[in-house]
Amino acid sequence: MRPAVAGMSAYVVADASGLIKLDAMENPYTLPEELRNDWAGQLRTVEINRYPDPAANSLKALMRDKLALPEQAGLILGNGSDEIIQMLALALGGEGRTFMSLEPAFVMYRMIALMNGMQYVSLDLRSDDFSIDMAATLSLIETQQPAVVFIANPNNPTGNIHTLDELRQIARVVPGVLVIDEAYAPFTDMTAMPLLQEYPHVLIMRTVSKMGLAGLRLGYLLGGHAWINELDKVRLPYNINVLSQQAAGFALMHREVFDRQAQRIRADRQAMYESLKAIEQIEVWPSEANFLLFRAPEGMGATIHAALKQQGVLIKSLSGGHPYLQDCLRVTIGTAEENQQFLSALQVSIGQL
Ligand code: PMP
Repeated sequence: MRPAVAGMSAYVVADASGLIKLDAMENPYTLPEELRNDWAGQLRTVEINRYPDPAANSLKALMRDKLALPEQAGLILGNGSDEIIQMLALALGGEGRTFMSLEPAFVMYRMIALMNGMQYVSLDLRSDDFSIDMAATLSLIETQQPAVVFIANPNNPTGNIHTLDELRQIARVVPGVLVIDEAYAPFTDMTAMPLLQEYPHVLIMRTVSKMGLAGLRLGYLLGGHAWINELDKVRLPYNINVLSQQAAGFALMHREVFDRQAQRIRADRQAMYESLKAIEQIEVWPSEANFLLFRAPEGMGATIHAALKQQGVLIKSLSGGHPYLQDCLRVTIGTAEENQQFLSALQVSIGQL
């Protein structure tokens, strides 16, 4: 019997039609209207009666080119990066195998580890700025000997980044693989790509979800060929369907559109950060992702969340997810109009306290 996984519903975004959903973590922008016709035209040519190319070779070649992926690295695709986490747990799991992460972390790490019968261990990041307690982390790795260590950089749900040097120190002691999850890469200049040349057991995971293509379900993992080839053995042959292969290829041909959207989100994030910082009653953390984490006055997290919802704005409440996140809320940067609506609703909610 597999252990029950508590909190599974945490990943399901509530269906709250009519609300501005600033709790879903995708990008509010998508394919602009003027490209939609061309896109639909390309999809019309897809031979839906045939199985997809199981290795998705044309898409992979295009990704290497358009996303400037390191030539030497192996590449494997997943049906979202969630599926890649699962492939890693499937390939590396087994009796007594440990999956390790630093918390607060992306909830799927723990869930997928447990669903696959792995032991999940975690260490808390520092409570004030969510940075890594390096001595404690190195020592836990030493004692636990994890088969896989996952670190999101930027981290979700905190939005902060860890330095290349910190990740390198961790890479040196990890006995299995170290996966750096760069899901939020479009919103930061930070990347651990240089570590790929230094350590064959460092893998970098990315996704097109935050570019504005969350519905495509396309994640990818880069790393040493030896590791990637092993992981390919647990990948289901047609995990990237023909429509996704075609649509992702089309989107990549228009990469500049998505880059512009990410730049706009980065600028709006800065403006939103400053607006939140100016509100005396709340604490906000700097972020390199497409969301901001902030803390409501003590005991008021649920009240603020409800007051926002009442005004038609749904953001994510993180209270209960981790002891450090008491009264914390996470808002995803939306369109300019949504951001403004959120800020006005927040002012009203705080005024009602
Ligand atoms: N990693 C992190 C850190 C995430 O926040 C998310 C999704 N929010 C994912 C991975 C999964 O992304 P995908 O849509 O590619 O499954």
